[in-house]
Amino acid sequence: MRFITYQSESGSSLGQVQRTWLGVLAGERVRPLPGMDMLGLVRQGEAGLALARDVTTTALPLSSLSLLAPIPVPPRNIMCLGMNYAAHAAESLMAKNLPVKMPEIPVFFTKATTAVNSPYGDIPYDPRVTTQLDWEVELAVVIGVQGVNIPRQRAFEHVFGYTVVNDISARDLQSGHQQFFKGKSLDGACPMGPAIVTKDEIPDPHHLALRCWVNGELKQESSTSDLIFDIPAIIEWLSHGMTLLPGDIISTGTPSGVGFARTPPEFLQPGDVVECEVEGIGRLRNRVVEQVE
Ligand code: MG
Repeated sequence: MRFITYQSESGSSLGQVQRTWLGVLAGERVRPLPGMDMLGLVRQGEAGLALARDVTTTALPLSSLSLLAPIPVPPRNIMCLGMNYAAHAAESLMAKNLPVKMPEIPVFFTKATTAVNSPYGDIPYDPRVTTQLDWEVELAVVIGVQGVNIPRQRAFEHVFGYTVVNDISARDLQSGHQQFFKGKSLDGACPMGPAIVTKDEIPDPHHLALRCWVNGELKQESSTSDLIFDIPAIIEWLSHGMTLLPGDIISTGTPSGVGFARTPPEFLQPGDVVECEVEGIGRLRNRVVEQVE
């Protein structure tokens, strides 16, 4: 199944009120699941999926809805992998004049929950903050079942489903602060969605094409078969001594073709439209918009 989160406006005695809804997506139609949100659904596991299968609410056209990120406020930071595709690890190290060496243990970092953006939302651009916004298409895993010390053989028992993340990165901040967190966590720097696709719909998440376009020009093209640490390995490493929770989002890393490693380097500019797609999951489309507060 495919689940989306959307927002609708309704009138009340207090005026217009924004409400957030969970919906089941079938083709271009959406059936609302009243009284539930995505985190509640994920935490209920099979019982939640059974409720969703039986929903009989009136279907709405997807095109009429204002989508939010599937989990608009994650329970904690989005967990990410750096340098998890060989060609991207090589381009990153070469761009920094460092020796090319593949990671032997995963590179983990996080993005602040306040960075989460909707699948078609604007990406703010403030030149006083950064002039080096970069794109990164990624497959993200949504954890369904809590666990610690999860062996790789049992990793998929803990997966709820998948979504797409654009790990927007402010390269000047990332290098200046010598730590990923700030440069990865600007407001709007985590477009996500459009849907969460349950794991049963994606029998092999390690053979999915990933692509990123800027203004229609293909910038990244790869396959999740090129992951250095695959999903079971990521879950095993990350859960080693650290509990994973339902609703945790793990973004598995980006392939080569990012802007900063190009010759000359390229960065997103106001007016640019960046699209990120993972085969079978969906496509994000976000415009970069100058916003100087
Ligand atoms: Mg990334």
